[in-house]
Amino acid sequence: MKILQMVVGPISTNCYIAVNEKTKEAVVIDPGDEGQRIADEIKKANLKVEAIFITHGHSDHISGLEEVEAATGAKIYMSKEDAPRLGNRQSAFSYTSRKKEQTIMAPNEFFSDGEELTVGGMNFKIFATPGHTVGGVCIQCGDVVFCGDTVFAESIGRTDLPGGSYDAILKSIKEKILPLDDKVKLLPGHGPATTVGWERRRNPFLQ
Ligand SMILES: [Zn+2]
Repeated sequence: MKILQMVVGPISTNCYIAVNEKTKEAVVIDPGDEGQRIADEIKKANLKVEAIFITHGHSDHISGLEEVEAATGAKIYMSKEDAPRLGNRQSAFSYTSRKKEQTIMAPNEFFSDGEELTVGGMNFKIFATPGHTVGGVCIQCGDVVFCGDTVFAESIGRTDLPGGSYDAILKSIKEKILPLDDKVKLLPGHGPATTVGWERRRNPFLQ
């Protein structure tokens, strides 16, 4: 698997594209904004996008969804708990949303905790990690975890937005992320990549 990274939108969201290099099948994780630019990148790389995975329903992670879905026809996956945010994106996290008219959208598939999925010949494991939102997930593929806004390099996601819980996010990270091997790479929704081992030792919220 190869991972393409694009930084999109006004608050620099990381959109990742997991690519099966043999088949050019791909999964887009968090098309946060600039959907047309993401779609152009997909076209340029000649990828066949099989799915769009949403780590959580904040609009800085879903504002490019319409364009990417229209360009690829890929199925949208997210948690049931955060799914209502797709249909009501103005209230999701409105200060980052620049669009006035938004189509009502719904996921095609719901993630469930502990679920293992094979998409585009790549294997993914879903971890429910509530705390930043009620329905946030982290998604593991091999030795990489796409962790949305649950954990960042030496920080954690904010918990002061609707549905957030400081106790829940710490519990999620301690029970779902820290048990993974130190070498596992964490790819957050904002900012630089890190590893489980680094965060175990250096993240001030986890000491
Ligand atoms: Zn968020």
